[in-house]
Amino acid sequence: MTKSLYDVIIIGTGIAGLAAARHAAQSGLRTATIEALIFGGLIANIGEVDGEISGSGTDLAANLAMEVADLGVENVSQTVTGMARTDDQLSIATDAGMYHARATVVASGARLKRLGIPGEAEFEYKGVSQCADCDGPFYQDQDVIVVGGGDSALQEAMVLARFAKTVHLIHRGEQFRAHRKLIDAVASHNNIVPVWSTIAEEILGGETVTRVRVRNVSTNATSDIACTGFFAYIGLQPACEFVPAEVERDGKGCLVTNAALQTALPGVYAAGAVRAGHGGLLAHAMAEGKAAAEAIGAELRG
Ligand code: NAP
Repeated sequence: MTKSLYDVIIIGTGIAGLAAARHAAQSGLRTATIEALIFGGLIANIGEVDGEISGSGTDLAANLAMEVADLGVENVSQTVTGMARTDDQLSIATDAGMYHARATVVASGARLKRLGIPGEAEFEYKGVSQCADCDGPFYQDQDVIVVGGGDSALQEAMVLARFAKTVHLIHRGEQFRAHRKLIDAVASHNNIVPVWSTIAEEILGGETVTRVRVRNVSTNATSDIACTGFFAYIGLQPACEFVPAEVERDGKGCLVTNAALQTALPGVYAAGAVRAGHGGLLAHAMAEGKAAAEAIGAELRG
């Protein structure tokens, strides 16, 4: 990636970032992307996407990434560490250099939250995972635990149910907050067992996970559930530490934008899961990425 002035730098190559990069490049803007990991973001972990846009998450992301590369968008594999506005341009710092653009789209998405309980870090890759599609086949005919009551937990519990003998779906509440369609689909799986009003307190084992200590929040009673796999899907946290503190965040830490997806820092736009008010679906990420690129095109053309 050359270090001259870009029209737009897209931070993150999840679906929102790739959609923004595609539209910006198609509009004739000199565009670059910066990505710390691999393209696709969280969707790359989803075997079968559900909704208006369907198919394998990896295939969707790969096709979009290929289109973006064919349009001549340059990509740099570095971690963004900060950004600042000077006169009429933005300086974007990474762990390996400094890049300049007239505008940027922060599309750095979100990470899966962790429970932060004892054993979670210790048993990572030894039974603790957050990728049901990648690791599900390792749990053939075994017992696993999924924690959470939202769309992610229910969707991933069904992925694991294809392999596991039993999926204990532990939820702290008394009803799932996931979409009705997913709740009904989970109910039709005999090997998914909801465990209501319960929290996971500690992951236990030797070399690998063998059981999880849980507490019923109504009775306060603790018990152990034997299992070899543990998957927590308890929501997302936005990945935007590098955005200056003066850019307003909502209660979840997501970047606040106006209707044109512009933050309070001139030239800085946000799209996808990092943005406050993001709808959460793949179709929303695609639409927001495109809309941010459109708004930047309009702004730069004056
Ligand atoms: P979410 O909707 O925020 O749900 C998080 C779940 O985890 C909730 O049930 C919550 O319990 C529980 N939870 C949170 N913190 C916890 C803790 N410390 N201990 C135990 N449980 C905890 O998160 P998500 O399911 O990852 O979904 C994120 C967004 O992506 C949503 O907008 C969702 O619609 C979207 N999404 C959509 C699809 C789809 O349409 N197919 C698939 C995946 C995700 P409470 O309910 O008690 O708060």
